Amino acid sequence: MEVDATGGARGAELATPARTVAGLRDAVRAWRAAGLRVALVPTMGAIHAGHIGLVRAAQARCERVIVSLFVNPTQFGATEDIASYPADEARDIALLAQAGVDLLFAPSVVEVYPDGFATTVTVSRLTDELCGRFRPGHFAGVATVVTKLLLQAAPDIAVFGEKDYQQLLVVRRLVRDLDIPAEIVGAPTVRDPDGLALSSRNVYLSPSERRAAPALFRTLTAVATRVADGSARCADACAWGADALRAAGFGAIDYIAVCDAATLEVLAQVDRPARVLAAARLGKARLIDNVGVPG
Ligand code: AMP
Repeated sequence: MEVDATGGARGAELATPARTVAGLRDAVRAWRAAGLRVALVPTMGAIHAGHIGLVRAAQARCERVIVSLFVNPTQFGATEDIASYPADEARDIALLAQAGVDLLFAPSVVEVYPDGFATTVTVSRLTDELCGRFRPGHFAGVATVVTKLLLQAAPDIAVFGEKDYQQLLVVRRLVRDLDIPAEIVGAPTVRDPDGLALSSRNVYLSPSERRAAPALFRTLTAVATRVADGSARCADACAWGADALRAAGFGAIDYIAVCDAATLEVLAQVDRPARVLAAARLGKARLIDNVGVPG
């Protein structure tokens, strides 16, 4: 077992999560005093290999890694799945301990949103379209809780997945706008061998839906290839992509769009770094994914 300058062993504190901001700050203060760099990986639990990929990226950059586990009520809409969101803290702790995570921060809802809580962080423009249009209030919930987590843990870096590409850009924006002194690191999407992006929500898929689900990544990749050389119109490629998803068994397609990779402005033709993003229903699940357009 690895032992650090403060005498603590990597992973040793994981069995007892920090439940309070004060407890979290005590741990971070001790690590800082020992000259160790600290990373934060925010999650909503239901840990899978995608989350572990973020932990690995964090460990490559910092000596200490905190994972937060908080199913944030303010980012769920009234009709969304918070009540059924998969939760098994003991399982999550075992997986994170195995990955060598140093501290789990698992606060209660009242610790994060004390009585009288009245502050919201909103990021405009970037959140107008895509998931922002279909999940009103979602990104305000995300931006508010991420701002709080960054102020609570004061990490050197925080790692977010490219799987939630719009969220990653929203976090980068708020950190720059609010002068929060943390570096935001984006980590690549971890996929099953058939291409399906890992997600806590994949448990909602029936066996036949699970077989259909890789069509999302396949279709996004095909759309990216079609628009890559700048000759195809993005609208045509996306209309083709929507048909392909419907043919594969997807229901409502919230969006499929080719966007500027930095601003998420919808592009007519690819003339700069671009990303193809989609959200679509498959049975009870709403799946999202995105890929870069080869440049
Ligand atoms: P969640 O627990 O779903 O809120 O996700 C927590 C973090 O893990 C976010 O930064 C996500 O973008 C990231 N994440 C979720 N799924 C994946 C994946 N398949 N690959 C990489 N990162 C992921």
